[in-house]
Amino acid sequence: MNLTVGAPLFSLGSVLRPTRYNRISISAVTIIQSSSSPSPSSPMEEQQQHPKRVVVCGGGVIGVCTAYFLAKKGAAVTLVEKYEVACAASGKAGGFLALDWCDGGPVGPLARASFNLHRALSEELDGLQSYGFRALTTLSLTLTESNNTPYGSRSSSVPSWADGPARSPRSLGTRETTAQVHPQLFTRTLINKAVENYGVEVVIGKLERVEVEGGGVRGVGLEGGRVIDAEAVVLALGPWSSKLDLLSSLFRVYGLKAHSIVLEPKQPGAITPHALFLSFYPSQGGRPLDPEVYPRPTGEVYICGMSAEEEIPDNPEQIWGDPESIRMLKRVAKTLSSHLGEGEAEMKAEQACFLPCTDDGLPVIGEIPGIKGCYVATGHSCWGILNAPATGAAMAELVIDGHSSIVDLKQFSPARFDKRRKAYDDYMSNAKSLFA
Ligand SMILES: Cc1cc2nc3c(=O)[nH]c(=O)nc-3n(C[C@H](O)[C@H](O)[C@H](O)COP(=O)(O)OP(=O)(O)OC[C@H]3O[C@@H](n4cnc5c(N)ncnc54)[C@H](O)[C@@H]3O)c2cc1C
Repeated sequence: MNLTVGAPLFSLGSVLRPTRYNRISISAVTIIQSSSSPSPSSPMEEQQQHPKRVVVCGGGVIGVCTAYFLAKKGAAVTLVEKYEVACAASGKAGGFLALDWCDGGPVGPLARASFNLHRALSEELDGLQSYGFRALTTLSLTLTESNNTPYGSRSSSVPSWADGPARSPRSLGTRETTAQVHPQLFTRTLINKAVENYGVEVVIGKLERVEVEGGGVRGVGLEGGRVIDAEAVVLALGPWSSKLDLLSSLFRVYGLKAHSIVLEPKQPGAITPHALFLSFYPSQGGRPLDPEVYPRPTGEVYICGMSAEEEIPDNPEQIWGDPESIRMLKRVAKTLSSHLGEGEAEMKAEQACFLPCTDDGLPVIGEIPGIKGCYVATGHSCWGILNAPATGAAMAELVIDGHSSIVDLKQFSPARFDKRRKAYDDYMSNAKSLFA
């Protein structure tokens, strides 16, 4: 069993100097100011001369994408993560991406923009090699467990390695509309690039409070007393958003615990790039389950499902999978394919993590009412890996330019939680400095 996700990328209190910020020395600014050029007028020019200091809190895929795009736009960015980059859902998710599965709802344009940004990022960062980006064929299948699972492929549209009793194949997506990344490698590749190319500083520390003065953000205070000054703060704490009074007084984010296993079959070459959405009927009856199966270019096969609302522990490393849920995912694997049964595949991980969910099912992306310069990005539920690039790029525009052109963020604004505003207003009026 392997519940950990590797050695920390950054040690406690490590300071990786922002190279862009350093290059803009005081003398360089003085020279520009004393020249005959007109004062900068565009936000980009302004950014180049006086990079906005932004602290992004939370080293999941949403915080990392936000830090990446902010720094690329010229901001001097510090990312604060309490344990390790991609230690929670962003390191343990499936990494499935779909162009059009959110169409017809408010998230549709965000998802489309993000799917296309994933493609562009993959070209920029050699996605296949760096983090397993690739196109997929996606099917739904019905799978009924029996005590004597007969192996042998049933229909030509079912991939040959899914040689268990799979029925009713239906196409859900093509290589043009569905794809995947390895979410932990994606998130860590992006933060490494953000550090190397755009001077992002990563600090391992726990956000305790947002410092506010005169209705505007002034910085953040970390556990242990360190204060980091900032002109803007982005809170991307995933399901831990609920632990910060500033956010929980305005809206509810709850954690939905979901389980996954990662298997390494002895014959990885037999496993084709097909994502499978199953309706699984267990042999003892009971309600059917909806596990998802994602083969990865690393040769591994990821299977997830089995979710329930649960209180989230403070430490992501103390999120354990429920043994019964893990056992059920193993039964799914064994029933689906002779390549995934015991003895045929090595178990690489048995794990669980929390989806960040909101009451209206929509992400919360925008400036927090009443605190100028304080932003939130969370609540992406089961689509956080898909929607992270467009969320990050839109947030970067919002912070630097004051509005987003990539996607209209109005419907995701935290200002929509009007019903809870009374508690929030009381909280605001009592707070001189906001302690979370
Ligand atoms: C089983 C499963 C499968 C999934 N599959 C997919 C999929 O195929 N496709 C898809 O698009 N999405 C998928 N998702 C959803 C996706 O994983 C999430 O939406 C996404 O990872 C959320 O990212 P986040 O950055 O908001 O939160 P997280 O990844 O939870 O990151 C939050 C970070 O904030 C840090 N933090 C919290 N509090 C503090 C603090 N006070 N100070 C400093 N740091 C703090 C945490 O340590 C953590 O690193 C899946 C989720 C699960 C559970």
